[in-house]
Amino acid sequence: MGNEFDLIATYFSRPAPPQFLGVGDDCALLPVAPGMQLATSTDLLIEGRHFFADVDPRALGHKALAVNLSDLAAMGAQPLACLLGLSIPRVEPAWLKAFSEGFYALADAASCPLIGGDTTRSHSDVLISVTVFGQVDARYALRRNAAKVGDDVWVTGTLGAADVALRLMLNTLAPDPALLEATRPFLEWPQPPLEFGRKLAGVANAALDISDGLVQDLGHILKASGCGADLDYAAMPADPVLQSLPPAIVQEAVLGGGDVYQLCFTALPARREQILALARQGALRVSRIGCITAQPGLRVKDAAGQLIHPLPVGFDHFG
Ligand code: ADP
Ligand code: MG
Repeated sequence: MGNEFDLIATYFSRPAPPQFLGVGDDCALLPVAPGMQLATSTDLLIEGRHFFADVDPRALGHKALAVNLSDLAAMGAQPLACLLGLSIPRVEPAWLKAFSEGFYALADAASCPLIGGDTTRSHSDVLISVTVFGQVDARYALRRNAAKVGDDVWVTGTLGAADVALRLMLNTLAPDPALLEATRPFLEWPQPPLEFGRKLAGVANAALDISDGLVQDLGHILKASGCGADLDYAAMPADPVLQSLPPAIVQEAVLGGGDVYQLCFTALPARREQILALARQGALRVSRIGCITAQPGLRVKDAAGQLIHPLPVGFDHFG
């Protein structure tokens, strides 16, 4: 392993499909279909903040791309290609091999070829920056400001498991090896509903991916759309692996837990059947958890009809 160029050639130079100009030139080139808009998003992952230094590098490669693909899904966009910025303190072949394999496995599965990036030496920590490009019909992009009063509020998948894994690993929950084993894949191998998100374009009104907690993230839609929401906690899909935990802990994880990488979206009630059919096609769980209101603010009722107060705030890097 001589240098930066060998490193790129060894781990990050798999050929892209012929319609792309991939790794090796000053810029990559990618085709965008006529009439489509380019959707792009970037996410940083920093050691000690977004992942533990000893995380399985294969999972890290997967997650670095998954959290970006999740943004495309939340916009209703189809993945086109991605870029990888990598800053590492030293060359560790086994780590790089596993990281790149995890990354490429998802890139292949999502038809999102790696077409370029940048590689530098860092002082001590690993830092990963992934940028994704996708395309979406401009008329149907799922913007945060498009929720309408009377819309249903939906979420895909389940909630809470990733947050419980994180809390177990941070020792803010009592040790429980079986629960850690059951929840850890949710934290380390997020599986955003990419196909489903794409199919929501033209069906849903507003959407986003849940990265910082349902309450906080749905709050972004409400603010951008100038409306509020009434939600029903009993309708929320707490992950079944959390069954053994006290209800108060589950509730906090479901409402406030981050790292979910499932979608929260709003759609007209007339779309219910269509949404359920799309979910069935994708073998995906969807839950209708409430509705959009003209009254601003977010209210969540528990199973007894009582308002939950205070609501968990979710994650904020500078909070
Ligand atoms: P430049 O100096 O023009 O920025 P680099 O020497 O940084 O080019 O990179 C050489 C080529 O390798 C470029 O095509 C770049 O996109 C690609 N590349 C660099 N690092 C990565 C990486 N981590 N993953 C994928 N492609 C990479
Ligand atoms: Mg460069």
